[in-house]
Amino acid sequence: MSVESPYDILLEPVAIGPVTAKNRFYQVPHCTGMGYRDPTALAHMRGVKAEGGWAVVCTEQVEFHWTSEITPFIELRLWDDRDVPMLAKMAEHIHAHGALAGLELCYNGAHGPNFYSREVPMAPTGRTIASFSYEPVQARTMDKQDIRNVRRWHKAAAVRAKRAGYDLIYVYAGHGLSFLHHFLSREFNQRRDEYGGSLENRTRLLKELLTDTREAVGDTCAVPCRLSMDELRGEAGLEKAETEDMIGLVAEVPDLWDVCLAGWENDSLSSRFGEEGGQEPFIAGVKALTTKPVVGVGRYTSPDRMASIVRKGIVDLIGCARPSIADPFLPRKVAEGRLEDIRECIGCNICVSGDFTMSPIRCTQNPTMGEEWRRGWHPEFIRRQESEKPVLIVGAGPAGLEAAQALGKRGYEVTLAEQRRELGGRVARECRLPGLAAWGRVRDYRAEQLRKLPNVALYLESQLDAETVLEFGCPRVVIATGARWRGDVVGHHRTAPVTIENGAQVLTPDDLMENRLPEGPRVVIWDDDHYYMGGVLAELLADKGFDTTYVTPASEACTWSRHTMEQHFAQTRMLEKGIAISAFRTLSRISPSAVALSCVHTGRAEEFEADAVVLVTSRTPSDELAANLLRQRERWPDAGLESVDVIGDALAPATIAHAVYAGRRYAEELDGPPVSTDEVPFKRELAELIA
Ligand code: ADP
Ligand code: SF4
Repeated sequence: MSVESPYDILLEPVAIGPVTAKNRFYQVPHCTGMGYRDPTALAHMRGVKAEGGWAVVCTEQVEFHWTSEITPFIELRLWDDRDVPMLAKMAEHIHAHGALAGLELCYNGAHGPNFYSREVPMAPTGRTIASFSYEPVQARTMDKQDIRNVRRWHKAAAVRAKRAGYDLIYVYAGHGLSFLHHFLSREFNQRRDEYGGSLENRTRLLKELLTDTREAVGDTCAVPCRLSMDELRGEAGLEKAETEDMIGLVAEVPDLWDVCLAGWENDSLSSRFGEEGGQEPFIAGVKALTTKPVVGVGRYTSPDRMASIVRKGIVDLIGCARPSIADPFLPRKVAEGRLEDIRECIGCNICVSGDFTMSPIRCTQNPTMGEEWRRGWHPEFIRRQESEKPVLIVGAGPAGLEAAQALGKRGYEVTLAEQRRELGGRVARECRLPGLAAWGRVRDYRAEQLRKLPNVALYLESQLDAETVLEFGCPRVVIATGARWRGDVVGHHRTAPVTIENGAQVLTPDDLMENRLPEGPRVVIWDDDHYYMGGVLAELLADKGFDTTYVTPASEACTWSRHTMEQHFAQTRMLEKGIAISAFRTLSRISPSAVALSCVHTGRAEEFEADAVVLVTSRTPSDELAANLLRQRERWPDAGLESVDVIGDALAPATIAHAVYAGRRYAEELDGPPVSTDEVPFKRELAELIA
């Protein structure tokens, strides 16, 4: 007899209209930056999630008509029959592992400028385009014929989606990204006809589309409705009470309620700005409004938390996007009781940056994400070793740790040497900064995997130099020694050093992370890195009582974090902590009690009093060991040394995701076919030319 587990509840089946999810793990629709450009890579990626045990695996948004698309973002399309095979391929991969395939039909309306189709966008009421940038385009007001047309197009798309093999066909009204959301909104919908005004009128089109879709495909397909409970804009936006009333009007019409928050940045809040399960107060109560199952998200990685929200009757299904990206095998690990093997999402939103930069999805924790077909990588399996030659890895940051655990799993004898007393490199230090605690999971997952690998020997407090490496006599050496922040101003905007006068107090992020603090109360942070570090350190200093001014040559603080949807939150938090933000300024000299700044546009100069300056600019690879070894090639044969590879920040500093990827790549390619830079080393899909 099997022993009962507190997580058994997560493995129970759930009926969703005419279909049944085999357990409660539900991969909600999420973007991938692959879409119509990389359909086979996408099909394989979704297939791996199905293999990992998710009961339902959904697409990203599928644009169902050319009068609404969100170029330059790359999503899926179902404009006519020619798009069916691409989507069918994905459904096949999902079905191959016994999961249900869900497809999210989307009409963006006023969210998309239609730069590709050049059609005039449509909205309940004509207005500016509400996308992530200020597009110089407006949408026109839909007339009754337009509404009839969109209903017909949606129905035709639902039929095509069914033909493509999908089991769940969404009516999408969430995130402010769908024209249905705009119809529901008092602010977007200023109509005076039966589609505007009262709550009932604003809900009319949603009800019609749900009914149309059920009529068209509801005999065999479930019809979920995805809706945002709150826009977190107070009375100006949709709020929970009003949304609950809306749900009340159509409570039994869909087969499933998939509830989220709007906008997307609130729904996919990074761990820096929100905890696991942060949406529970908004989702709680929906189940009382309907007999239909409810799915909700909240960056759930803890099986205890998941089981608890099912037991409490908050949701029936655990919705996950990011946790399923970081660990496509999360459900299987729960089912097999291997909780310690779960690769927990760190909530960094690098996955989101794939969509925002129109590049294939990537993940800090899961370096195989997006590479399942392209490079043939798998999140759980890696081929056996192809030689008996051991590997020495120097440096246990994200790159070294990932290389060690992946090579260890291949069966190689690995030695991992780290000069510090702790594992994790930059992650160990950065996870102590304000808001970044969850980033420590990059280290924790890998440390746990290493613990189980008897063939990986770990040596802490072991600083290696070229002599010790040569003496060690290992044929393969991997240098993953990381990087240090520069102590001068060379970064993105300032590309040459400036005068730093004698007596001026200059600190780097490494200094602050090593607990060296400025002397004197007034500190300027010069941020020419533009991601999170400048903002996080400004917070650290403000928390410690320093009078902190953040200076950037950009138009806003931490501008690259727009791609992780954190910029607004970062700047808000900085302002709330009393940090002054000085934009469009460049730095030209640092004196003991002042910095010389000037406007990046006019050159107008000013002196700004400061006791110390923290330079957040760029990093220098710690590659002395590599350079020393490479200089002594003639000694390699006697030492039994065959190869020295430099990976991660030691080669070229970048994000943590880059370093983890570099570690994985080394492990995947070791003893594989020779990689020639003259040939494309990964698979890619090319458009077929029409004769
Ligand atoms: P990456 O992001 O590329 O993994 P990190 O800077 O996070 O780089 O990690 C590099 C690690 O290498 C750090 O923990 C650092 O202490 C360690 N390290 C650097 N030089 C040596 C060395 N000569 N011997 C052993 N460990 C080293
Ligand atoms: Fe989570 Fe970061 Fe991976 Fe996205 S990139 S799934 S937020 S760990």
